[in-house]
Amino acid sequence: MYADLFTTSPLAAPARCSSLVAHEILGLFLPHRRLAQESAPCSPGGCANCLAPHLRRVIDSVERGAPVVFILPAFPGKSPNPAKVLSPRADMAERQSLAFLDGLCRRVASVYAPGARIVLCSDGRVFSDVVGIDECDITTYQRDLSSLIDELGTKSLSTFNLDDVFADCTFDGMRTRLMENHGEPLESLKARVREGGEPQRMYCGITRFLLEDASRPDMTTSKTSLQKDCRRRAYEVVRRSKAWDSLLTECFPDAVRLSIHPQVCGSRKLGIHLMETTDGWLTPWHGVAVDVGGAFVLRKRQDVERAGATLVFSNGRPSHYVLERTAS
Ligand SMILES: [Zn+2]
Repeated sequence: MYADLFTTSPLAAPARCSSLVAHEILGLFLPHRRLAQESAPCSPGGCANCLAPHLRRVIDSVERGAPVVFILPAFPGKSPNPAKVLSPRADMAERQSLAFLDGLCRRVASVYAPGARIVLCSDGRVFSDVVGIDECDITTYQRDLSSLIDELGTKSLSTFNLDDVFADCTFDGMRTRLMENHGEPLESLKARVREGGEPQRMYCGITRFLLEDASRPDMTTSKTSLQKDCRRRAYEVVRRSKAWDSLLTECFPDAVRLSIHPQVCGSRKLGIHLMETTDGWLTPWHGVAVDVGGAFVLRKRQDVERAGATLVFSNGRPSHYVLERTAS
């Protein structure tokens, strides 16, 4: 009888268990994280400082017996550079990434029955005019993502777009309202970038992306003016990204923040990879999926074509590459 009383004690044990379960849940994400190089002292498997910003939110969900909600600002639309991607449409790179995220949610459910939900906060509409992606391509890409989620038959993944927030506006109107409500003045952002740290890392990474996307064979402008233009646009991408981030915090105050960018130890965002790649910044929408013998990796299109990979079509559209291993 006393034994029964102990095992059903409502005190202490649930709190301890919630913390253990929360550690276990977050531990499933750590092997896949994108860690910024500045985090060298942190161990690859993560440390207490890595988990600290996220633990309370996970514990709160566990104590309520609710699914743990993660939000991931990602999947904006394919890069406009054909040297990096196959087409404006979602392809095997997105399919593999969504299956990976669904698999992560399943693993969470195996240690915590209510499981996890990942909301993909597709931010293409936030940036389309600055990064040079056609609005129609953003719309089609968002529909592709929803179709891929339907095909997976998962309840763990969902999307959230700017279109969901300002449904009655034009696309320009949506961005104007986002920046009016959540935008940071350019001068204050520039000052923070000059100070270094995360804002500078983000600014440099985005400048690099914009330069890559703009460096096409049909380019007519000089390299110097291209660099100047990319730096100007990078500031606007960062401003938009921060505004979107602020809106998401308002819409999902209890969610754990994931990021596709490398993050330092202890960051309020947990950077994660969506597919195996050797490039810390490469994403499914800046690359192509390559089947290297039963496993998919992410590469830039021109690199796999140079390596002699074979293009595979699915439903009449380019899907991915197959790279045969050469016998050594
Ligand atoms: Zn750490």
